[in-house]
Amino acid sequence: MSPRKHTKQLHVGGVAVGGDAPISVQSMTTTKTADVDGTLAQVYALKGAGADIVRITCNEVEAAQGLAEIVPRSPVPIIADIHFQYRLALAALEAGVQGLRLNPGNIRNEDQIKTVAKEAKDRGVPIRVGVNAGSLDKDLLAKFGSAVPEALVESAQKEIGYLEEVDFTDIKISVKHSNVPSMVDAYRLLSETVEYPLHLGVTEAGPLPGGLIKSVAGISTLLLEGIGDTIRFSLTADPVEEAKAGRQLLEFLGLRERKGLDLIACPSCGRADVDVIKVANEAQEKLAAANLPIQVAVMGCVVNGPGEAREADLGIAAGKGKGHLFIKGQIVRVVPESEMVDALLEEAHRLVEEGIEARLAAADADAARLAAETRAQLIEIQGDANNAAARRRRVAEVAGKA
Ligand code: SF4
Repeated sequence: MSPRKHTKQLHVGGVAVGGDAPISVQSMTTTKTADVDGTLAQVYALKGAGADIVRITCNEVEAAQGLAEIVPRSPVPIIADIHFQYRLALAALEAGVQGLRLNPGNIRNEDQIKTVAKEAKDRGVPIRVGVNAGSLDKDLLAKFGSAVPEALVESAQKEIGYLEEVDFTDIKISVKHSNVPSMVDAYRLLSETVEYPLHLGVTEAGPLPGGLIKSVAGISTLLLEGIGDTIRFSLTADPVEEAKAGRQLLEFLGLRERKGLDLIACPSCGRADVDVIKVANEAQEKLAAANLPIQVAVMGCVVNGPGEAREADLGIAAGKGKGHLFIKGQIVRVVPESEMVDALLEEAHRLVEEGIEARLAAADADAARLAAETRAQLIEIQGDANNAAARRRRVAEVAGKA
């Protein structure tokens, strides 16, 4: 992973964005903003799923009025999403929002932009210049012929110029595109051009699973290059999925501390002694509900499972009708196969409460021996997937004799 590119730090309410602040997760509500209780319920759900900041549309007067009630009751900072009507940006500021998103493609009047910037500056509220390939400034579309990365970056620079003219520098920028390579190129170019924090996203990524794949491809590529300060998955799905995906991506990349479960599982193969998909899904469901901050492995066989998943905090591997519980690769208990998931759940709770050392010390004395016996029996029957060198030698011998 490349070192993170230095950017200026700003604050969206209590959440720092840019500089050395943790990369934050954003999502957007899908309710009508005038529906205060419905919108707040979604904001709370988004926070629960991992969102640090939530964006809400401010598309009409009733929405701005809704924001006035939502903002004081929200558990996270609220950004008002503004298109076309600069007056709604002023109304959202009056409602107390902690951030604004302006689309330079449809608020193009320089004086109006400066009026909003002056008001935001007085209130200490940052503005995201949110360029979108689908709604690019018509003059730039005419100049470049299409929404190429250079056009997106020029649109952002033009808007930044207006803001800087009135001494406004609490700026975040996004240059979203629905085409992943174009999105990546646009952000790379932008990152070379500005010091402001960048908000990453693949726009209109679509339903699952394609939307998720596009978003992960674009956002991860940039994060691994050290580009990006805040992210949003734009999925055609329940926004809770966006928040969850954003949070998990950051955890999987090691950019945020693990808050919840990380379930790893082998893909299964002919050697599996159990229906790995069924067991993994059941374990995922039960462990996710318990929301324990650990990595758990579900492995199809005791021949390779504990060794391959030795990095996991806890795991289970099947073999000859039994489940072999292991902690950091060491077998600690053997249970009937039908009790595998419940045993995993119970051990997960104990591990979080008591710690790895204590649970290793409490291991069943006989567990490792039982597992070794089962493993040896399975290898006798199936062969050892790890003795490939010996098998290659024997195959070569046979081939030589032929
Ligand atoms: Fe196959 Fe066992 Fe590896 Fe799972 S752990 S993929 S069952 S060899």
